[in-house]
Amino acid sequence: MFKKTLKLLDTKIKAFADSAPISQDEKTRFQHYVIFMMLGLPTMLVFGVDNLLNGNNLIFVFCLVTAFGLFTGLVILKNIKNSSWVYRIIALLFVGLVNYMIIIGGDDGSKALWSYILPLFCCFIFGVKEGAIWSSIVLIMAIFTFTQSSIFSIDIYSYSPSFQLRFIITYVFCTIISMWLEHSRNFFLKQSEAISADLIKEHAKLLEEIEHRKKLEKELITISRIDTLTGILNRGAFFTAAEKEWDKHARSSQPLSFAVLDVDHFKAINDQYGHPVGDDVLINITKCCINSIRSFDMFGRIGGEEFALLFTETELEDTKTVLERLKLAVESTSMEYEGELITCTISIGLYTVIPPSETLTEIYKKADMALYQAKRSGRNKICLYP
Ligand code: GH3
Ligand code: MG
Ligand code: MG
Repeated sequence: MFKKTLKLLDTKIKAFADSAPISQDEKTRFQHYVIFMMLGLPTMLVFGVDNLLNGNNLIFVFCLVTAFGLFTGLVILKNIKNSSWVYRIIALLFVGLVNYMIIIGGDDGSKALWSYILPLFCCFIFGVKEGAIWSSIVLIMAIFTFTQSSIFSIDIYSYSPSFQLRFIITYVFCTIISMWLEHSRNFFLKQSEAISADLIKEHAKLLEEIEHRKKLEKELITISRIDTLTGILNRGAFFTAAEKEWDKHARSSQPLSFAVLDVDHFKAINDQYGHPVGDDVLINITKCCINSIRSFDMFGRIGGEEFALLFTETELEDTKTVLERLKLAVESTSMEYEGELITCTISIGLYTVIPPSETLTEIYKKADMALYQAKRSGRNKICLYP
């Protein structure tokens, strides 16, 4: 319950400080100020009113002025960037009030005890060095009050020598501990800032690495699916895609055609011009095929100089027309090599079926048988199974 309340308070104060248009360092300082103000303002008002009721009008005025200063400071500090002078004016009011308390002492000199708040306030607001200076001012003035009380025209509380000594020692203790707390806070803050900066860097590096790996993975998938020579689907990718397409059309009543293409006497081209020229011929044939088919027809290289085509939702006659166009395109395209024109032809085996009567492997087998038929019957032709 207590922890929850503290956490909620902390969140609220941080949100309040964050809404101010000031730097991050100033925000931390402002948060400390808000905490002191939340504790100090009601205390000062209650204390002031109590003193007013007891006839100590001057203390009431002092408290009122300091409380007013604290509150006005809050409004100003939230809106200005260079705020050190505002904190210093407030510290001055605070020092004045504390010194007045030491001078008048109150019951058993107890009013002097308010001084212990000052080192904490000053170290948290001004940092170790300036905080120590403000604390020292109060200490010097307290020692001055203890030792030179005769020069004041008003009533000075008469502190016993042992009280004076104890006050000085405990006040010095309180100052040193406040300085130490502020120093540790700064030290851990800097350390955690350095750690989070490292973490942010690591995080960015990791994200970069993930992106790089994703890109590599994509490239790898592409490489594994694409035939490196012709840039079309390789055997594995073609059959995987064809299988999917086959399943997709399993309930369709539209015919599906599978065609196997084989370059005629390709070995002779290799033997005559060399394998690199043979490669270029394969690339040219691929281009002819791509230009002859439609974008949604499936096309892949399934072997050395063998290609496959899958036509979906196309009537047999339309398929034949496409293949004729393709065959003619290959036939009429020539490639120049050392002044010589290289031409070639292709044989095509075709099988048309209405799914799902057969498996894709069976269809491929039948198209392949038709291809052998085309080869046997003279090449450069399209044969339909059976
Ligand atoms: P057919 O008309 O009966 O198909 O005769 P062919 O010479 O085309 O068939 P064969 O199977 O005897 O020869 C195919 C040749 O294709 C053999 C092989 O060296 C060649 N080949 C296979 N893959 C490649 C390739 O990627 N590049 C090149 N240049 N040649 C290839
Ligand atoms: Mg072959
Ligand atoms: Mg061949």
